[in-house]
Amino acid sequence: MNRHSIDDLISRSDLSKDELVFLLALQGDRMQRLVEIAARVKEKYVGNNTYLRGLIEFSNICSKNCLYCGIRSDNKEIIRYNLDDQQILKATQFAYDNNFGSIVLQSGEIKSTSFTHRIEKLLRKISRLSGGNLRITLSCGEQTRETYLRWHEAGAHRYLLRIETSNPVLYEKLHPGDGKHVFGDRLACLYHLKDIGYQVGTGVMIGLPFQSIQDLSDDLLFMKDFDIDMVGMGPYLEHQNTPFYKFSHQAPALKERMDLTLKMIALLRIIMQDINIAATTAIQSIDARGREKALRSGANVIMPNVTPQEYREYYALYNGKPCMSENEQACSKCIEKRIAYINGKLAIGEWGDSQHYLKKNKASVNLIKPGLLQPGSDLLSNPQCAQHRQKF
Ligand code: SAH
Ligand code: SF4
Repeated sequence: MNRHSIDDLISRSDLSKDELVFLLALQGDRMQRLVEIAARVKEKYVGNNTYLRGLIEFSNICSKNCLYCGIRSDNKEIIRYNLDDQQILKATQFAYDNNFGSIVLQSGEIKSTSFTHRIEKLLRKISRLSGGNLRITLSCGEQTRETYLRWHEAGAHRYLLRIETSNPVLYEKLHPGDGKHVFGDRLACLYHLKDIGYQVGTGVMIGLPFQSIQDLSDDLLFMKDFDIDMVGMGPYLEHQNTPFYKFSHQAPALKERMDLTLKMIALLRIIMQDINIAATTAIQSIDARGREKALRSGANVIMPNVTPQEYREYYALYNGKPCMSENEQACSKCIEKRIAYINGKLAIGEWGDSQHYLKKNKASVNLIKPGLLQPGSDLLSNPQCAQHRQKF
């Protein structure tokens, strides 16, 4: 295929499964071309802003046992923690004071009445703290429709629940058959979230053992068919204390996982245009410039970790998680430099709602929250990220 016809193909938003398979296999200059076109689509539909979400990993206690995850309940090698409300509110205050515009509260999965009530009360406290001026994303796994509803009414605007893979057979391989890890249940949760009115985010792991390029094409089409509002997807990375570790040799090489992730982001941007796509932390574990590359490939969201530093090492979903030893200020300053490096604009003081969601719901497109600093303001005056001390 000549360059002209590849350009024609890449510029279409109605790509078929076969075409996506073809494009996911591009290498070298042709892959670069794909990334360039995705960057143009991003600029046209969502602009060149990078939106911030302060990530608070508030507990690594999990009742699930996903075969790939380092904080699965059967891993007895890690210290478990559960931040108290004061610690979470302090991290929230940091994000608020530094004009992040939004936070993500993520944890292992606990399904109980007391957990539901705790989060509900916490959400109301966060809304009070910020005068309703922070967008809140929850990522606390599968819950009942009633729980999702209560959390939405208490102030959660967005929910992130990765489908992990859209292939039910692969899903079964990734999870124990104990009745607690059922593909259909996870899908039903996504439908509840959408129906309740959340901005719904999902995503997949890329480069899993037993995953084919056809599976990844199906993942892209799944996200499009579901009409998702936001996506966080990243490379699968091994953790030594998991049953999946023994299949490491069946996963693609790290460089290939990285390239596949960039191509997935680029293609999703091309086929879904105005959604929010995160440049995830996992991508930076493979390549110190991973998040910048993701932003250049069509991603428009970044999630600085604002979890208190002393707990970060225990939220070890996979080996080699970056930014374990930096404090919140250093992380934020590092991100500011990274965005400048790619000539992007850090959207300070903006909620960064999914434009796709706003258009779908015919809401007025109000991306800038009132009363906060305008884009271009200084984020923080604190110096550098120690772990990734690089020339910018
Ligand atoms: N417990 C919640 C949220 C925390 S886990 C949930 O499962 O939805 C958040 C995400 O981490 C998961 O959705 C999964 O995609 C990702 N994750 C877990 N283990 C991983 C690994 N080994 N490599 C890459 N991503 C992983
Ligand atoms: Fe728990 Fe989420 Fe890890 Fe599964 S992926 S074990 S639900 S934290």
